[in-house]
Amino acid sequence: MFGYQGQILKVDLASQKISTDSLNLEWAKEYLGGSGYASRLLYDMINKDTDPLGPENPLLFMVGPLTGTPAPTSGRYVVCAKSPLTGIWGESTSSGVWGAELKHAGYDGILFTGKAEKPVYLVISGPDTELRPAKKIWKKNTEQTLQQVRKELEDNRFRVASIGLGGVNQVRFAAIMNDNIRAAGRTGMGAVMGSKNLKAIAIKARGKVELADSLEFLKVCNEANEHQMKKFTSKMFKELGTAGYLDTGYAFGDLVSKYYSQGEWDGAQKISGSEQHDRYVIKHDACFSCAIRCRKLIEVKEGKFKTPVHECAEYETLGTFGALTLNDNLESILKSNELCNLHGIDTITGGSTIAFAMYMYEKEYITKVETEGLEIKWGDADMIVQLVDLIAKRKGFGNILAEGTLRAGEKFKVPRDEMAVIKGLEIPMHDPRAFFGMGIGYATATRGACHMAQDDYEVCYGNAAPEFGVPFHERFDDNKIGEIIANEQDFRTIYSSLIFCNFAHPTGEHISKLLKYGTGIDFPIETLRLIGKRSFNLKRAFNNKMGITNEDDYLPKMFLTPLEGGTEGNVPDFPRHLKEYYQYRKWDEATGRPTKELLKELNLEFVIKDIWGG
Ligand code: SF4
Repeated sequence: MFGYQGQILKVDLASQKISTDSLNLEWAKEYLGGSGYASRLLYDMINKDTDPLGPENPLLFMVGPLTGTPAPTSGRYVVCAKSPLTGIWGESTSSGVWGAELKHAGYDGILFTGKAEKPVYLVISGPDTELRPAKKIWKKNTEQTLQQVRKELEDNRFRVASIGLGGVNQVRFAAIMNDNIRAAGRTGMGAVMGSKNLKAIAIKARGKVELADSLEFLKVCNEANEHQMKKFTSKMFKELGTAGYLDTGYAFGDLVSKYYSQGEWDGAQKISGSEQHDRYVIKHDACFSCAIRCRKLIEVKEGKFKTPVHECAEYETLGTFGALTLNDNLESILKSNELCNLHGIDTITGGSTIAFAMYMYEKEYITKVETEGLEIKWGDADMIVQLVDLIAKRKGFGNILAEGTLRAGEKFKVPRDEMAVIKGLEIPMHDPRAFFGMGIGYATATRGACHMAQDDYEVCYGNAAPEFGVPFHERFDDNKIGEIIANEQDFRTIYSSLIFCNFAHPTGEHISKLLKYGTGIDFPIETLRLIGKRSFNLKRAFNNKMGITNEDDYLPKMFLTPLEGGTEGNVPDFPRHLKEYYQYRKWDEATGRPTKELLKELNLEFVIKDIWGG
């Protein structure tokens, strides 16, 4: 077998039994791998009454057919389960090296079922696998866990993915951290791991990935790298990391402040990518097989927010912990970022939920009585850092925020339109008023408000993919917007199946050739488009099975309120955009389900009974 390793490791935590299952080759052809394959495997295993934090929720780590090869950005993995934050399809990808290590260990994925009686961690060392007691590391942070695991295994070459206190305490937006500082952040996969008493997965691999035609494969890798490095965004990320986008984002009104209510904010300059770069970045770094090298390491040498060498703050983190909270103290954002990573907490949901707490406090939905004495005011850098810690430890008011925005807002009777949440997931730092396509993209994405499932802002910057039906367009141009966003989602679904980083920009021809020379199987662009569409609609059907309807595809009114600044007072015509999207998708407007005809067309007949009955 080429490209794929042909097997999935199965770990039943309740019985401690470890076995392997063959990769289903038909599914590999129909869904590629990564989250596409995961959606097919997990669809049958999860039901409406599956408790996301119960032992019956399976947890699946997957890589793709190109993972661990020299293909650009091929060190990633994805982790999927029913989300404890949203109750629907949960999916989170992460970069670094750990994904490549899993592939080199000889597996296309690891499926965890059940719950261990006591905390454990999984060790994969060459061909050997074992579960070890994790009592000593259970309450350690992710950095301490990494060090302790390597010490116990007497080998610093082990690559580790683990949870911190966030996952241990089942914070609903807990992340899984790998390679020390990379995060599978969104939808609370760390909480699922914690609910299973699974602390970490340590891998030291000896194998490699066999390719169908290594010489041709390498030629295409070089071409794809050369192509992507000509992109403006690749150059910007190489220099400044994703934080480099902050100035541009602000100029376009994409970076909004004060809990999405303010288009202009003086503090943006103080937390920009160049500020971070000039004052704190000490080293540039890269994930496995990546020429973009957007990773930066920072150090804050002194002061109350002193931070030892750690990952820089990404654009999203600067946005949620900075602009949304009106916090212009960059050092406090770097500290919050470090704390989130050590505790294993998603910085997007974490920062946005803290900003929501500030909003609730200002609007008097909560007072010092509910916050247990805390005064939660805009821009209070010390309070922000303190809240991160309280959330991870589920202490005091932090215990309420650990449930995420939606549950906290419902508890204090905040109307739905005042919460920046879709299907339970907090809206990231790309505003639908700045890039109209983001509105229906967020409203219909399969894991809730997601900026990875479609990234229209990237397309409007010139990173179009016309061969996948994603042409360049102006940010306020809504001609054929339903069609374009649906195609963008299908295109990005291919990425999460491969699995590639969204910042890589190989052409369709590159992807097709990489798969051909990697796996020996022909995947022409039309087939890839069909795979993307099939996987996206299967995840949608999964969500329909969980109870999602057309009423859940909404955009909170705050994003339909004009702002001053870079959005120039524009707002998307959301109802029309959504109608056009539904028509193009062939989704039923009355129920929000993919039509039976579409499901048959996509070879998804097996879901018809579940979502349509009969
Ligand atoms: S672009 Fe950045 S995040 Fe993506 S793979 Fe490369 S170094 Fe990692």
